[in-house]
Amino acid sequence: HVERDQEIQITRLKLPIIAEEQVIMETLSENSVIILTGSTGSGKTTQMPQFLYEAGYAENEKMIGITEPRRVAAISMSQRVAREMNLSSNIVSYLIRFEGNCTPQTKIKFMTDGVLMKEVECDFLLNKYSVIILDEAHERSAYTDILIGLLSRIVLLRKKKGNPMKLIIMSATLRVEDFTKNAKLFKEPPPVINVESRQFPVTVHFNKVTADDYVREALIKTIKIHTKLPEGGILIFLTGQQEVMYLVKKLRKLFPYSSKSNKTIEAKTKNEETEIKHDYSDDDEELDMIFNIRKAIKHKKKNKRQLVSQMTLPKINLDDFQMPGDDTEVDFNEEDDEKSEKDETDEHITQMMGELGNSQPLWVLPLYSLLPTHKQARVFEKPPENSRLCVVATNVAETSLTIPNIKYVVDSGKQKTKFYDKVTGVNTFVVTYTSKAAADQRAGRAGRIGPGHCYRLYSSAVYNNEFVQFSSPEIQQKPIDGLVLQMKSMGIEKVVNFPFPSSPDRVQLEESEKRLKILGALDNRDVSKITKLGQSIASFPVAPRFGKMLAMCHQHNLLEYTICIVAALSVQEVLQEVPLDGENGNKDTKWKTKRRTMAGSGNSLLLGDPMILLKAIGAAEYAHSQGKLQEFCVENGLRMKGVLEIRKLRIQLTNEINLNIPNLSLNVDPKMNPPTDQQAKLLRQILLSGLSDQVARKIPDEELKIKEDKHKLKYAYQIPEIENPVRMHSCSILKKKQPEWIIYQEIFEIRNGDDMKMFVRGITAIEPEWLLKFAPS
Ligand code: ADP
Ligand code: MG
Repeated sequence: HVERDQEIQITRLKLPIIAEEQVIMETLSENSVIILTGSTGSGKTTQMPQFLYEAGYAENEKMIGITEPRRVAAISMSQRVAREMNLSSNIVSYLIRFEGNCTPQTKIKFMTDGVLMKEVECDFLLNKYSVIILDEAHERSAYTDILIGLLSRIVLLRKKKGNPMKLIIMSATLRVEDFTKNAKLFKEPPPVINVESRQFPVTVHFNKVTADDYVREALIKTIKIHTKLPEGGILIFLTGQQEVMYLVKKLRKLFPYSSKSNKTIEAKTKNEETEIKHDYSDDDEELDMIFNIRKAIKHKKKNKRQLVSQMTLPKINLDDFQMPGDDTEVDFNEEDDEKSEKDETDEHITQMMGELGNSQPLWVLPLYSLLPTHKQARVFEKPPENSRLCVVATNVAETSLTIPNIKYVVDSGKQKTKFYDKVTGVNTFVVTYTSKAAADQRAGRAGRIGPGHCYRLYSSAVYNNEFVQFSSPEIQQKPIDGLVLQMKSMGIEKVVNFPFPSSPDRVQLEESEKRLKILGALDNRDVSKITKLGQSIASFPVAPRFGKMLAMCHQHNLLEYTICIVAALSVQEVLQEVPLDGENGNKDTKWKTKRRTMAGSGNSLLLGDPMILLKAIGAAEYAHSQGKLQEFCVENGLRMKGVLEIRKLRIQLTNEINLNIPNLSLNVDPKMNPPTDQQAKLLRQILLSGLSDQVARKIPDEELKIKEDKHKLKYAYQIPEIENPVRMHSCSILKKKQPEWIIYQEIFEIRNGDDMKMFVRGITAIEPEWLLKFAPS
């Protein structure tokens, strides 16, 4: 029996899904699998678990499981459902890669799809669960797709065993044919229930022309909405963290909100008394930094046509245990430099503001996946009195989180995507147009409380001609080595025959198997078979190449270091960097200088960028033990949320290794000594063992024949299978040293009009004679 607060009950009853409860539950009792569609905000995620709980699905020691493709959603939805049901987080809990609050009493469990995937590995029949909900199936994350395939079989097996389990596939948009018209997946198409949502009409306004600089365009549009149009929240869609923070800062400056002039509002929740402090102060430092980065980039662009990247060393982006949705926000700066942007002293804006006079304060909040969780939660709180809510978001706000009280949507029409070339392995970060389906989702966000407006910063011609209908499933776009290995370790040998909703293409599958074979994870003669090494690689919750490094490091007291490096490389964007060019920039940043000192010399320096990470994380751990982590991160340019994730992953990996190797009792030492020169050398070899397919060689001078070549190709590297030369990215510590043979963590290209340049980063120097031992050819 659930006792809800009256206030909650009233809001709940307004949700469209409530009227369908009976139909849904009856259909579910007659079918093993159902598909539930309905527009964002209709109540699927928050209400479905409650219906199931009240119908007894959490009885008899069973649980209700819900997967989310985004960590943000798993956490925030579990909290919301607990609150609505008046139950504690011991009962309604969540589990994501690094953290969770599940207990033996947990009845409703929110988790990322990667977590459920791991659980299938341990207990193929998922016996703990009476029902699994796969939420946001329309996002077509690679894990969700595989889970659908697996669950289609698990449901049959559980039925056979007389211990039936239900599967509910939930999705926002309506393209469910991949699930229903796929006989390999479901012999009989599962029933589809559509929840009619009370969606108010949204008037869509297209721009007459499509401006290049959508961030500035978004700023102007927001100013106009705020100063001219009636009350109602504004939601702005941009592509990445840097843009979001830039616009937040601009808007806060134009429409200041001061906590001193407003009383703090107190909010009471049932279980605890929380005070909502309406105050921007904890954002200031971060904002300043991002603002300066953007300014530095612009300044640089004015003087020189050059593209630089802002951050260093993301993880190697194989599908590891991390949420796929989080990956697309890596902030490279690959904008056109054609735009003549007049930054701070934009006359047009100043003039506009002058004409508009005074206006009420704007309560401006950022929302993107890398934002700390407690800051993300602020978008659900009421804005301070007499101010208007304005959320500047990436596509996190498209479907997984419904931000209340939005009346105006400003849509850049863009998103940042990581493109992956299946054959060469080159990643490209590109800002592209979203799909029509996504744009319509975004517009829909404005029609929740009443008729709304959506301002599209692009023309209707662009929408009609350049937007695709739907974006393609992730499994067809990304490297799937981790998934393939996981499937093989579960005994699915012929991945080609697996009932995918949409099959990954054959080339991609073959390339994955080839890379896994090189790692020694698959049998040399028969790639359908996993090796013993492959099994142990698969047991680590990291990408296969990192798993290999962990499996290789049992000797010479290298475990601790390898764990630390692997953890650091698995978490994206830890080291922050103001993008000043290593070659020509005479201004070195404080951080860069520090890092140069950290690099040391000899093998330590040759270990390169991973060494910087190792030392930075080691020092951060020490600062943490002294309670000074935050200061340390600011001082050294580390992203704190990233550092904390690395910490959790280190602990997790350490525990797992302890479990496998008796009497080892390794721990995460806050005073880890730096590796000796000999150890650093061995670490270089361990890195090579996982990256033996990512080797590059400097193009020797004598091979640079033509004069022009000589100039252009100096310091360029050659990679087998890739025709164009690549360069070491300026964020690499080895940029000055330019060793002859290197391995790299990632290769990516930056396009600037017709000019295309390829870069590698995350560099370690290697010795050519090691290649015989580790590299295939
Ligand atoms: P759907 O899954 O169909 O998109 P949800 O169940 O996520 O819909 O949302 C239903 C309603 O609950 C929305 O109006 C949303 O704003 C509200 N809601 C969700 N999470 C919170 C929260 N943490 N605080 C307040 N309201 C919330
Ligand atoms: Mg939802």
